[in-house]
Amino acid sequence: MSDSLVLRPALFVDRDGTLMVEVDHCHDPADVRAYPGAAEALARARSLGWAVIIITNQSGIGRGYFTVEQFESVQKELISQLDGNIDASYMAPDLPGMGSTRRKPAPGMILEAAEDHGIDLKRSFMIGDRNFDIECGRNAGVRTILVETGYGKEHLGCGADFLVPTVTEAVHLVLDESL
Ligand SMILES: [Mg+2]
Repeated sequence: MSDSLVLRPALFVDRDGTLMVEVDHCHDPADVRAYPGAAEALARARSLGWAVIIITNQSGIGRGYFTVEQFESVQKELISQLDGNIDASYMAPDLPGMGSTRRKPAPGMILEAAEDHGIDLKRSFMIGDRNFDIECGRNAGVRTILVETGYGKEHLGCGADFLVPTVTEAVHLVLDESL
């Protein structure tokens, strides 16, 4: 890696239950509801030089519940509701228990994104609503924030570095506290 390459920090963010209201195996854009305030918070982060990258498990694809095309249509709707404030999305279609290096809690998607986008993991965070989001962040060497939306209240004991009510507070915590 070139010394002149300037790495930037990222907010790695889970999708379901974190950026949008949890819908079991969401595959219809009509069901997408981004949380209020998320778009503005992410816009602020990006204006300060942060990359915002979605890291999402979608085993519904591996199970045959829906297609990659349906996933993409949900992504398109979500990103629209977030006013385009997403730099990239990484998705793992793998089933649990298959030894995937990408499916959370494995760190593969974060490591791949860091390589693709020139991310400084030491300054970055993983934000999510489940224990495997937090484990994924820890496995990738980033700090972790659990939100109480989605399944968050069922995972309060997962050992996240920070606990906040929603993704909006998570983003402002990172930016305001210069963490
Ligand atoms: Mg989630």
